[in-house]
Amino acid sequence: MSHKRLFIPGPTEVRQENLAALARPQVGHRSAEFMQLYERVVPKLRRLLGTEGKVFLFTSSSTGVWEAAIRNCVEQRVLCCMQGAFSDRWFKVAESNGKQADQLKVEWGRAITAEMIDKALSAGDYDAITVVHNETATGVMNDLESIAAVMKKHPGVMFLLDAVSSMAGAKISVDEAGIDVCLAGLQKAFSLPAGLAVASVSDRALERARGVTNRGYYFDFLEMLKYDERNQTPSTPAIPQIQALDAQLDAILAEGVEQRVKRHATLAGITQRWARRHFALFAEEGYESPTVTCVKNTKGIGVAKLNEELGRQFATISNGYGVLKEKTFRIAHMGDTQEWEIRGLLATIERILKS
Ligand code: PLP
Repeated sequence: MSHKRLFIPGPTEVRQENLAALARPQVGHRSAEFMQLYERVVPKLRRLLGTEGKVFLFTSSSTGVWEAAIRNCVEQRVLCCMQGAFSDRWFKVAESNGKQADQLKVEWGRAITAEMIDKALSAGDYDAITVVHNETATGVMNDLESIAAVMKKHPGVMFLLDAVSSMAGAKISVDEAGIDVCLAGLQKAFSLPAGLAVASVSDRALERARGVTNRGYYFDFLEMLKYDERNQTPSTPAIPQIQALDAQLDAILAEGVEQRVKRHATLAGITQRWARRHFALFAEEGYESPTVTCVKNTKGIGVAKLNEELGRQFATISNGYGVLKEKTFRIAHMGDTQEWEIRGLLATIERILKS
């Protein structure tokens, strides 16, 4: 079967070993085999995320965990940092769950800074803040360290972090940063199939959930906690994906988290230098993402046409997201992608553009 190699910011390529793990014989979700699987997976996720706290498995995409974080951690009012299509959408999720959601908004391509957050939180009485670590639509990664430092000045505010396109590709130390919910889907820097999401949930977040009404049912953190204590999930989870996650976490930890982060930084450097040489970067300087580069289409090339041609060579990249279509294009360098693959892709794009 012909396959276009994915250089899009999710889903990403899944290695054969992990595809094979999906096809392992199924086990019942209340069986001893499942409990052993759960008991293997969760500590490995803790190691990856730098947390001693809880890590829950969600049978949904990341959007489900956006909703879970809002429903469990916000009684009334939430501040939503908005800087692109995905961070903007988390605000919509908060509003549609009946919460009073305020906007802290910057132009697409710009970063949200610690100073902006400090000022906004000081001006209001918030239960929580939503921050997207790495805005996949614009290729901007916010500075987690300075944001985390400022969040320590606001201890009553739950720190909800979307690390959808940064987890397993950029450095995140959940406990050190004091993140209350840190969530991601597995089809991005984990290089696993779509269908499962994970999130760390702090003791503070669980304590908050105890006082919040209408947490919903499917993703009630307290129900998830109850089952977590038995190494289970409240309802039938995506068992094949958890088996693949088990295998991939071994590979990630064998590579080494630091080394994995370094590899992502190297790939990003190569792609960014190439983009600067031929076009320009869309991201504000100093905030370029290590997992996806958003290239400003300064030459007015036909992005869809380029992608069509790339498809004939069995590769695919992403057009700009929403209003950025044809104005930008995105090259993902996340997950298990290696340097030779990125160099090959960039050389192929150059060849196509020259002809
Ligand atoms: N957050 C970010 C940063 C994303 O990039 C995406 C999707 O690309 C999402 C959330 C939503 O993820 P999903 O569509 O898998 O629910």
